[in-house]
Formats: sequence, C-alpha cells, structure tokens
Amino acid sequence: MKARLAVLAGDGIGPEVIAEALRCLGRVAQLYGHELEVTELAFGGAAIDAEGDPLPDRTLRACLTSDAVLLGAVGGPKWSDPGQRLRPEQGLLRLRQSLGAFANLRPVKVHPALADASTLKPEVIQGVDLVFVRELTGGIYFGDHSRDADRATDVCTYTVAEVERITRVAARLAQTRRRRLTSIDKSNVLETSRLWREVSARVVAAEFPEVALEHMLVDSAAMHLIRRPRDFDVLVTENMFGDILTDEAAMLAGSLGLLPSASLGEGRLGIYEPIHGSAPDIAGRGIANPYGAILSAAMLLRHSLQLPAEAAALERAVAGALADGARTPDIALAHVRALATREVGDAVISRLQRPG
Ligand code: NAD
Repeated sequence: MKARLAVLAGDGIGPEVIAEALRCLGRVAQLYGHELEVTELAFGGAAIDAEGDPLPDRTLRACLTSDAVLLGAVGGPKWSDPGQRLRPEQGLLRLRQSLGAFANLRPVKVHPALADASTLKPEVIQGVDLVFVRELTGGIYFGDHSRDADRATDVCTYTVAEVERITRVAARLAQTRRRRLTSIDKSNVLETSRLWREVSARVVAAEFPEVALEHMLVDSAAMHLIRRPRDFDVLVTENMFGDILTDEAAMLAGSLGLLPSASLGEGRLGIYEPIHGSAPDIAGRGIANPYGAILSAAMLLRHSLQLPAEAAALERAVAGALADGARTPDIALAHVRALATREVGDAVISRLQRPG
C-alpha cells in the first residue's frame, strides 16, 4: 500500500526518538512492500521560532490530508515563561481539536524483562497488559472557566453523543483483546458521571453483548490500578480522570520513555506520539529512550494504516530487543552497558523479519 505520513518531530528529544521510529517504519515498509511518503513539518517551539506559530497553517494542512500524524514532543525552558503569548502546547491542543481526536489510547504493557524497572513489586506488575481510553475533547477542561473576587468556577459537561462515541471506541478495542471493559466515573457524586454510567451501559449491552462491562468509581480505580493491575484489560473514562489515571498507570511500566499513545477521531486519521515530553535535561545527548516512539509507530500501522501484521512484527522486534537487554540509560541494568538512542533503533531494526 501507499501511505502519507505527516511527521512533527517537535522539540528537545522529539527529533531524536522520531528519527528511530521513522527508521523502523522504513524497514517495515521495505520488508512488507509498502510505500511511505514522509513529510517532516515544523511544530511546537521550533515552529514558534521559525514561523511565529506553534502550528503553522502548512503543518496543519499537511496533517489533515495525510493518513496519519507521527509526533515527537513539544516544549522546553525557552518557551515556558507563563507570560509568553505563544506556547508550544497550544499547537498540540489545536492539532487534536482540528483532527477531531476525541479518543486517547494509552496501552501499558509490562515487558517480562523490565519488571524490575518499576517502583512496584515485580509480582504485582508481571503480566500487566491494559489499555486506557481517555475522552480527550470534552468535560471540565473544555467547559466555561470563570472567576470573580472570591469565587472560581469550572463547568463540566458531557453529552450523550460524546459518551456513546468514546464507549464504542473502547468496546471495539475490548473486542479485539480479552473482552473486558472497565468504565470509570464518580457517579455517587457527579451528574455527568451518572449520564456516563447510563449511556456506557446501554451502548455495551445493545452493541457489544460479548464484552463484559464493569463500572468502577474513580477513587477505587486509582487504588486497584496499583493493587491488582493485571486484572484490567480496557479502561474507559472521562477527560480529567483519564489525565490523572493514565499517568499513574504509566508508572507501572517503569519509564515514561517506554510508552506509546494514539489520539483517534471518527475516521482512520490519528495522531501517534510517545507519552513523554521533550526531556530538555537529556536532549542533544543521544541517550533518549526511543521505545515509546517506536511503539507509537506500531500503533500507527495498526489503527491508521490498518496493517495489523506489520504492527505486530514491529512490537515483536521491540520485545526481542528488550529481552536481549537493549536498554537506554533510563532503564539500564547496573552490569550491562547502556545503549544510545540510535543503537536501540538498530537493535529493533535487526530483529524485524520478513513476513513468513
Ligand atoms: P518529560 O517527559 O519531558 O521528562 C520527565 C523526566 O523523564 C525527565 O527526567 C526526562 O529526562 C525523562 N524522560 C522523558 N522521556 C524520556 C525518554 N524518552 N528517555 C529517557 N528519559 C526520558 O516531562 P517534563 O520534564 O515535565 O517536561 C519537559 C517539557 O516537555 C516541558 O516543556 C513540557 O511542557 C513538555 N511536555 C510535552 C509533552 C508533549 O509534547 N506531549 C508532554 C509532556 C511534557
């Protein structure tokens, strides 16, 4: 197949990890006979410096007409002054809105070789394999915000249609996995959560009878995530709860550098990015962990290009490299030499195999 990718490497370690993800994608395309047309575009702080806009028109247009967007990370001390009018994160929010990316998928898989990289006990996290589906464009972050002398208000709203569509994304995903879906809310207190619970129950019962749905209060979910994380398969929740719980869940895997994400809308076009930021403290040293970016590229193959075999091949190559000890300093073992970003890319590429 032929596909067009918009690549927004961004700032700090963004370009370093995206370079490895692109090399891996190039090798997959070569092995499986696909043609990838890659367009690299200005984005984030680098785009503020070059064009005075974190998301220049040309970048947005190219994203809207591509098959998928691969993104690094944005931000850094140079652009983080709170008084600054233009900020790199504005580009990220506008991009998600323009693409209608309402569903944020964050898989957390603990690789057997890395059970020691987490702060939790290996016996608790061994075998964890879950996916968070966070609603990304509604809820309290997008409601009215107001303030007077002695009061501040943030409005949280969800519509039936918003809950229906995110429930469908999560239930469809559960169908391809262990068919277990946990919907997280605060229905003992919040009206939006009561709506969320009713609508998700109706959608799953009517359209996904083979998926087992459980409802869980957000406080209880926060506890169970670190007490018995292995029991979860797919979890779906609203914007702010998801923001908090996905960071908690990320820590199950040990390093921010390991985890991928996808932000999807109604069609196939999606935004794929590692969950970490631009890591200014290690930028330019060639030691950033590229696994999160490479696994984001695997998600891109699966969700936007509909190439599940190619995605699985890339994930197998990552698992093989990790099992053989190919580790950057953030996850390195005391007695094994840590690899550079590019060497980890090489380790993954050398384990990619022709379709059997
Ligand atoms: P960060 O994720 O950049 O870094 C947190 C810590 O994790 C740092 O010590 C860093 O060195 C380490 N780390 C992160 N990714 C790593 C990797 N791939 N390999 C090895 N170590 C890694 O978060 P931060 O320091 O809070 O933010 C830095 C900048 O990134 C800020 O400007 C912030 O706004 C921005 N940011 C951007 C995004 C995004 O683009 N989606 C997300 C989060 C933060």
